[in-house]
Amino acid sequence: MQPIGIFGGTFDPIHFGHLRIALDLFECLNLREVRWIPCAQPPHRMAPVASAAQRLHMVRAAVQGEKAFVVDDRELRVVGPSYTVNTLISLRSEFPDTPLCLIVGGDAFSSLHTWHRWQELIELAHIVIAHRPGWALPAAGAVFDFLQSRFTNEQSHLHEQCAGSVLASAVTQLDISGTRIRQLIKAGRNPRFLLPNTAIGLIDTYQLYR
Ligand code: ATP
Repeated sequence: MQPIGIFGGTFDPIHFGHLRIALDLFECLNLREVRWIPCAQPPHRMAPVASAAQRLHMVRAAVQGEKAFVVDDRELRVVGPSYTVNTLISLRSEFPDTPLCLIVGGDAFSSLHTWHRWQELIELAHIVIAHRPGWALPAAGAVFDFLQSRFTNEQSHLHEQCAGSVLASAVTQLDISGTRIRQLIKAGRNPRFLLPNTAIGLIDTYQLYR
């Protein structure tokens, strides 16, 4: 069965690094859709600059018209920190028989062991690692051991089982980050061509990142 791609993040703001890997994975892994799930309150980092509603608005505007993409606001309806394990439990109850592929960048995967109840994630979904410039896969430690035990090169595993495998994908690697975009805007520079114009329009409307 075609898996559903799950792409969570702060998206402060959403940019072409996110959008391109989501489309690459949708096509290359033959996904049913990619679900964009902005987090309300990230547990591992400082509070985002833009509000949850503003980040959701930017995600909606950025993906509009792309049939492969679905925006899912479930984390914004939960009070307290946005734990991925809870999001996957909620998705699993909605889609009991559909493979789920949690999409994470190489940087996020490297710190997987710091995520709340991280060892349960793989019982709920597959994990697809999108290579990110400047980040190699872990070569030692708990996440490396986990990777060794779950790694597959076989895309068919993602379709045949609902969860349990980790696959790394050589997506288009764009060295773009939300941090860099916020820094550019703060410095009065033009962020065009790093993110969609629709998102830039909302950054202007909300006067974000100045
Ligand atoms: P920030 O710079 O604010 O930390 P970010 O650009 O890393 O933001 P997030 O919203 O934190 O974006 O990331 C959401 C997910 O997308 C994470 O799994 C992250 O690893 C991944 N990701 C973000 N940008 C890229 C990129 N350019 N290439 C690959 N993965 C990316």
